[in-house]
Amino acid sequence: MDIYTIGIEDQLSLLRRKASPIQDITAETAQLAEHMVETMIAGKGIGLAGPQVGLLQRIFTVQIDEKPMVFINPQILATSPELSSYEEGCLSIPGQYADVKRPAQLQIQAWNAKGRPFTIEASGLLATVIQHEYDHLDGVLFIDHLSDRKRKKILGKFQVTPEGYPEAE
Ligand SMILES: [Zn+2]
Repeated sequence: MDIYTIGIEDQLSLLRRKASPIQDITAETAQLAEHMVETMIAGKGIGLAGPQVGLLQRIFTVQIDEKPMVFINPQILATSPELSSYEEGCLSIPGQYADVKRPAQLQIQAWNAKGRPFTIEASGLLATVIQHEYDHLDGVLFIDHLSDRKRKKILGKFQVTPEGYPEAE
């Protein structure tokens, strides 16, 4: 699967759109999840969301340790008031990294690729990656959490002007 990046106008506009829930989790969905995991690993990423491969569907994959995880139609149920900061990057914004503060812990409910619901508590890097990927489903990129100055600098590396950067919708 090709990974969409912000430097290509059509791809950027898709990355800014809100993804839709997956109506039925079928064998096709499981195959999609498998392809996304392969693409994430090949790209040396630790997370990948549907819009990043051009699919406006609410699915993302995460791999921190050995076992990849698939989140379909996720809902973040709770987040902690405590924040933590990690240097984030994104396969759709290659080569750019910046510190982002997010809630340090969260509880999330989703369905796996077999169509089974699950709820987990996450903290540390896993909590950050989940929030980063969840943002992608709403068209939000990690650079939206930075100051205007920092965002403009990163966009500039891809020849995107602040005016040429669409609103998330
Ligand atoms: Zn990303």
